[in-house]
Amino acid sequence: MTATTVRASAGEVRTELEAWLDENWDPSLTAGEWWRLLSEAGWADPSLPENAGGRDFGRDQVQAWSVTLAERGVLGPPSGLGRMLAAPTIATHGTQEQIDRYLPSILDGRHAWCQLFSEPGAGSDLAGLQCRAERDGDEWVVTGQKVWTSGGQIAQYGMLIARTDPDAPKHQGISYFAIDMDQPGIDIRPLREMTGRALFNEVFLDEARVADADLIGGLGNGWRVANTTLAFERAGLGSAGRSPASATPGPIAGALGRTVTDFLGKPSEGGVPRLGSDMWQWFVELARKQGRGDDVVLRDRLAGLYTLIEVNRLSGLRAKAGGSRTGAEGNLGKLAMSELFRQFREIGLDILGAGGMLAGRDAESNGAIQELALFSPGPAIYGGTDQVQRNIIGERVLGLPKEPGPAKDTPFSELPKN
Ligand SMILES: Cc1cc2nc3c(=O)[nH]c(=O)nc-3n(C[C@H](O)[C@H](O)[C@H](O)COP(=O)(O)OP(=O)(O)OC[C@H]3O[C@@H](n4cnc5c(N)ncnc54)[C@H](O)[C@@H]3O)c2cc1C
Repeated sequence: MTATTVRASAGEVRTELEAWLDENWDPSLTAGEWWRLLSEAGWADPSLPENAGGRDFGRDQVQAWSVTLAERGVLGPPSGLGRMLAAPTIATHGTQEQIDRYLPSILDGRHAWCQLFSEPGAGSDLAGLQCRAERDGDEWVVTGQKVWTSGGQIAQYGMLIARTDPDAPKHQGISYFAIDMDQPGIDIRPLREMTGRALFNEVFLDEARVADADLIGGLGNGWRVANTTLAFERAGLGSAGRSPASATPGPIAGALGRTVTDFLGKPSEGGVPRLGSDMWQWFVELARKQGRGDDVVLRDRLAGLYTLIEVNRLSGLRAKAGGSRTGAEGNLGKLAMSELFRQFREIGLDILGAGGMLAGRDAESNGAIQELALFSPGPAIYGGTDQVQRNIIGERVLGLPKEPGPAKDTPFSELPKN
């Protein structure tokens, strides 16, 4: 890996990456070949520490990396929850052996991951989860149900939180595992949403097995590890800066063997729209094409939308550059992203007018705006709902009183269950 110190300026990052791209980018490569090159050079996720395959980059350096990849029009690193959540969580809490075992195949896209957190009775109240893991020698036996598991049907591994001690207080009896999804005890059933796609699944674990060596962050420490995952989720979901085209990792998704150019210039990936200034620019061009370029009301709304994108992007940069000032930056970013989805939906459908009622290939741009509109309620729910983000800001940042509930040290087994 080329040496880049933590102190490299954004400009230096750009220069080094551009030189590397001049030498390595080749449109005839497959996604799998390209991701391996990116990963070996430490460009797959430079925000990770060096011992985890990254470059220890701070936020503005990461921004320079992402914008450079986007501007050069190359395929970015593997998308999905492996790189976004599992990699930084394992890098934070895992042993070096676990880092060496799991991160390389996340960074070069060989493996996809899913997040086995939510349950039918534990979403906002995640610590109320009932899926249990019981020790059996060097292994744990896991039984329970998870739901809303995005990408479960294409994942090789799952970030699993399960109750390992029902007699400990609610938050203390939980442990965090990396579980192999391809085993007889795991049944994955897709759930179809109103977009027509099945992005997420319900997952039934019936005496599924996971090795003790795959316990991440120590026994009973799962709530802390899960909060690390959730913090990365909020930060990832809340950032609306320029990002390169992306594709889904893992052998089941089918991207590994396809040429990199197949994924360039798409407004969404796997059904999830990529919001930001590129999408905004596309809206402006669409408005002009529909003869709405001089519509002052629409221009005003587009200007407001652009302002929100920029304010959110700059807030993210400022939070990292000057450290966290309130502790709520991630929550605020996530709330802003929910609002961006709503505004993109409203303005997009306004631009299309009656054409917004068409779908699929009959519609402008193959129905990308319609798909965005149908997907738009999701971001206000996943990664912790908007209401939950506001609760966190109220209680942990503004110091408002907590909601009443049983004493914190009550054993989980004595709590009323959902
Ligand atoms: C597109 C999508 C993808 C997802 N992907 C995943 C995934 O990959 N893995 C995973 O584990 N989960 C995933 N989820 C699940 C998501 O994290 C949960 O849906 C979310 O945490 C809310 O939980 P719930 O659905 O059980 O709703 P509930 O917790 O039952 O909430 C119902 C409503 O009550 C409100 N509410 C609940 N408690 C409070 C409170 N204390 N104060 C104020 N209001 C409250 C909520 O805001 C919400 O409006 C996904 C969800 C979506 C929509």
